[in-house]
Amino acid sequence: MMKDRLDALRGPVPPLAHDARAIAALAANPGCARRAVLDAAGVDKELTARHVGFPAPFGRSRFAITRGDAFEAQVKESGCAELLRLLREVLHLPIPEVAYHDVSDVGAHLRHSHTRRLIDRAARDDGDAGTFYDHPLFALEIAGHTSYLEPDVIAFRLGGRFHVVEIKSFPVIDGQADPVKVAAAARQAAVYVLALRELLRELGHDPMRASHEVVLVCPENFANKPVAALLDVRRELAVLRRQLARMARVEDLVASLPEELTFDLARDASGIPTRPAAELADALGAVAARYAPECMSACDLCFFCRDEARACGSTDLLGRHVRDQLGGVATVSEALALAEGAREPADGQDEIARLLRYAGELRAECLEGLELEGAR
Ligand code: SF4
Repeated sequence: MMKDRLDALRGPVPPLAHDARAIAALAANPGCARRAVLDAAGVDKELTARHVGFPAPFGRSRFAITRGDAFEAQVKESGCAELLRLLREVLHLPIPEVAYHDVSDVGAHLRHSHTRRLIDRAARDDGDAGTFYDHPLFALEIAGHTSYLEPDVIAFRLGGRFHVVEIKSFPVIDGQADPVKVAAAARQAAVYVLALRELLRELGHDPMRASHEVVLVCPENFANKPVAALLDVRRELAVLRRQLARMARVEDLVASLPEELTFDLARDASGIPTRPAAELADALGAVAARYAPECMSACDLCFFCRDEARACGSTDLLGRHVRDQLGGVATVSEALALAEGAREPADGQDEIARLLRYAGELRAECLEGLELEGAR
């Protein structure tokens, strides 16, 4: 039975719940079987990476967390007054007053059912009222496990559309924000939109009332003045849906793995892993990875997988675009040998071998030209 097999892969510990950041990261590298299997089994990837000697480079400093919390509090001050000003600009809210619900008023254990009730009531209401829902709690099924997610805030606007608001403390400087951080924020917001759509569907409402346009709020030019922009997360939603469906159908991947394979850390009574690190690294190596430079900001196993890709000279290190263009050429040495004509192309490699030879000739010509110029 699949659940038993996933339990055996994880070992005798409860599955790790996924938060929105972790679910969003699934969309960063949807083609990786290793990540799909580990996440479906609820394996603690952060502890696994640490135990095999490749701790993840993530984690925000205390200072960054405090700064982020202070900025969020500022945006939400006085019943989200500042946020309302921003939403008037980006969503063209015509309503002068907006109601505010702090869903956390009911206590943590009731927050999910209270969120359901409030969203249900809001979705039934055809009136013009706009409402902020602060600290809502959504649930999303990930490979058979329920994960609870907490968006920064949801704005309910005129016309019955819900917009997720994502508050981030990275700055927008001269109208530009770090594109990697914006992409990560878009993926995370897409998780909330997906969870909200699931909730609307469960409640019998049209899921598309949760808009694919999310509002990103950041500080402008290092001053703490908030600025907002709309992000279209349709692409992130599509990738996320595909990846979650793949995790739900992880059976095929798991069925192809050796029966005795496990990522059990063999923790002792105090939770310290006792499994030999080399043995655990071998177990990880039994599931194919698809390393891409994007993993460095999205997956706890990034240093482990990058090291593995380096060791075999994988073309994965060159990024997805180059790897896809080299389709079927697995290593850098193989690509170089094809470019130099030192290796016969395998079946189906004729076209890429021709292109590589051509690129090799162009490079040689350029280098020759540079040398001649240098000699003059
Ligand atoms: S770091 Fe490794 S396991 Fe994680 S997504 Fe990338 S290749 Fe897959």
